[in-house]
Amino acid sequence: MNAPGLPTLDAHCHLDSSRTAGELDACGAVLAMTLSPDEFEAALARPAHPFIARGAGCHPGVAGAQEAFNPERFRRLAEKAAVVGEIGLDKASTVPIETQVRTFRAILAAAAELGRPVSVHSRHATGLVIDELERARPPAVILHWWLGSAALTSRAVGLGCWFSIHSSIARQSRFRAWVPVERVLVETDQAYEDPPSAVPPRIEQAENILAEQYKMEVIELRRRIWMNFGAIVARTGVSSLLPGGIAGVLGGLGE
Ligand SMILES: [Zn+2]
Repeated sequence: MNAPGLPTLDAHCHLDSSRTAGELDACGAVLAMTLSPDEFEAALARPAHPFIARGAGCHPGVAGAQEAFNPERFRRLAEKAAVVGEIGLDKASTVPIETQVRTFRAILAAAAELGRPVSVHSRHATGLVIDELERARPPAVILHWWLGSAALTSRAVGLGCWFSIHSSIARQSRFRAWVPVERVLVETDQAYEDPPSAVPPRIEQAENILAEQYKMEVIELRRRIWMNFGAIVARTGVSSLLPGGIAGVLGGLGE
């Protein structure tokens, strides 16, 4: 496939599952995170979209989902997902950190066992997240909206993590200084109420900034991002769980 035909790839956003197929057609390729097992289960019941991969998640800030977390149920749901997220730790959350850590550990263990990439939230908990990842060693980690120090960023790179970078932090030197372009993805972290058609322009904003930072052509960066995602898929073996449109783009990259 020629690079100019490549759709944008948003590695972390939130889409309301009640959006119509027409609305969703405008969002490019997306890894759509969920905040709770209930939300993921509801999304599974909706018609699949060829460019939307739904993540099985349990967000550290959602008290109800954290309190009701059941490892067996989560594992069963994660079996059906090409990606696990949104998960993680958040010291600004009202959920006790012990509860969050217990959930996070159970999810990382399930991801390691099933071979699933994880999209990880780390607000005010970057060091703790890296400690847990070093302990659990899930097969592929995407750090979402990463704000860790240079030292923690370099530990994360050493662990093999990828980074989904939002346009609002894409100029920060931790990325160009510490993160090789082979570990770069982009994200909008778009909220449920935002229209799906806003995803591609927001992704392009992040791509433009990062292309400048990494001294690349934008289209070359987009292709690099797809190849990076392809490396995650190859590492975890989730190719058969991906929706057809996304799998098709990955399959066409070598042509
Ligand atoms: Zn999010």
